[in-house]
Amino acid sequence: MTTALLWFRRDLRLTDNPALNAALAHSEKVIPLYVDMPEDPGEGAASRWWLHHSLAALDADLRRRGSRLLLRQGPPLEVLRELIKATGARQVYWNRRYEPAAVAQDRIVKDALRNDGIAVADSNAALLNEPWQVLKADATPYRVFTAYWNAARKRGFDLALTAAPSALPPLPAALHGNALDALALLPRVPWDQGLRTHWQPGENGAHARLAAFLDEALSGYGRERDRPDHAGTSRLSPHLHFGEISPRRLMTAVEHCTATRRDAGLLQDAEGWLRQLVWREFAHHLLYHYPHTAHEPLDARYAHFPWRSDYGADLAAWQRGATGIPIVDAGMRELWHTGWMHNRVRMIAASLLSKNLLIPWQEGARWFSDTLVDADLANNTLGWQWVAGCGADAAPYFRIFNPVTQGEKFDPQGDYVRRWLPELAAVPDKYVQQPWNAPQPPARYPPPRVDLKASRERALAAYAAIKDPAPRL
Ligand SMILES: Cc1cc2nc3c(=O)[nH]c(=O)nc-3n(C[C@H](O)[C@H](O)[C@H](O)COP(=O)(O)OP(=O)(O)OC[C@H]3O[C@@H](n4cnc5c(N)ncnc54)[C@H](O)[C@@H]3O)c2cc1C
Repeated sequence: MTTALLWFRRDLRLTDNPALNAALAHSEKVIPLYVDMPEDPGEGAASRWWLHHSLAALDADLRRRGSRLLLRQGPPLEVLRELIKATGARQVYWNRRYEPAAVAQDRIVKDALRNDGIAVADSNAALLNEPWQVLKADATPYRVFTAYWNAARKRGFDLALTAAPSALPPLPAALHGNALDALALLPRVPWDQGLRTHWQPGENGAHARLAAFLDEALSGYGRERDRPDHAGTSRLSPHLHFGEISPRRLMTAVEHCTATRRDAGLLQDAEGWLRQLVWREFAHHLLYHYPHTAHEPLDARYAHFPWRSDYGADLAAWQRGATGIPIVDAGMRELWHTGWMHNRVRMIAASLLSKNLLIPWQEGARWFSDTLVDADLANNTLGWQWVAGCGADAAPYFRIFNPVTQGEKFDPQGDYVRRWLPELAAVPDKYVQQPWNAPQPPARYPPPRVDLKASRERALAAYAAIKDPAPRL
């Protein structure tokens, strides 16, 4: 009887899971495994919270089908070898990851297991196209989104889906792993109430979120996606990051929706949303081909950018949502409370940090990766470098978001800022995005930490020093 190990990573689902399907097709016994690496600094506190609940959900889904999830801790190669010895497994299956550290680790594990005589097969569960499948005519990677988007669409997407298996082979009773609680993924101080009320980690939660999005927000997405005061986007990002739902499933569902409803407006909204999903592909494409960009600017001229060095107090105020700039503080408090922040507000908050405050973008990226439930090295790196002006397709250096006009445009009644900043409840709409100008500024809300005009000039001067056109590669 052939036995295979199925190593779950960021593919925590049973539907449309190529590694699971391959394992079942080639082996009679399949042992689902998750390996926690306690010394791995990769995941922030909010992600670890999500991971705990997602693993619990996956285990429950496996048990409903007659199997269960084996949890082990330690370096993956050691854990896999130990289990191979204990179970007599001859094959190991997993779905690929694209973060530089994971790519390097997978290569080592694959080579070592093959040297041991074990068959290893990896698949793509996370992307519509592999990072190496969409390349320019000269076989180099894209650095401009629209060109990437056009090429990806021209290539097309393989949208064949597979259902979750209805039954799975049981695990040997003697095979034991760690208890989920022993992985200590949950916070010791219970700050996670907001996360618990906002999210349902796991595959069922992902499907529920998709259904709600198709019913309530796909139609009108183009109009609403920039409005943090409305629920105009899918909020599928953490589910996508943990692989609880596949982008193929999302694309198929959206295409089915537009085909059945036959509405030109809906078609445009769907196109706009799929474009965002392909931004995610582009982010993975960039990180895969330029792995150093997780820490360093893609545009090498920015390596010596004159960031401030005495920024500790400003960074702390930004993190706490106490900059005195309402749209930024509301976003930072939404992030702290729910583990998520609206995309438009992420851009404005990142612009204040990297441009008005001249704090290195890596500091902001680190904070996001610790506090976001959707923290994703590829998307976070792309987002921060885009705003800071040093990445692919980056915002031009002179585009410095004015948080007051952005707030007035995208949160016109101030509903969003008042939701997260009760201190502003009584400030009239006209001043809610700039309370320091109100006839009676609110007593419990701080004045702005930076003068927006002067800090803009300072940023322009710093950026001007390196603004000579970058060579387009
Ligand atoms: C500074 C900054 C940091 C960011 N950090 C992250 C991060 O760590 N993880 C993360 O998933 N996204 C990140 N983003 C991108 C974006 O803000 C989120 O993906 C989006 O807000 C998620 O909400 P949603 O699922 O409702 O998005 P929707 O609008 O419903 O979009 C659907 C999906 O497309 C993808 N997507 C949407 N916008 C982008 C984008 N600009 N770049 C890449 N993929 C995108 C996401 O997977 C998203 O779930 C960041 C953006 C900025 C400006």
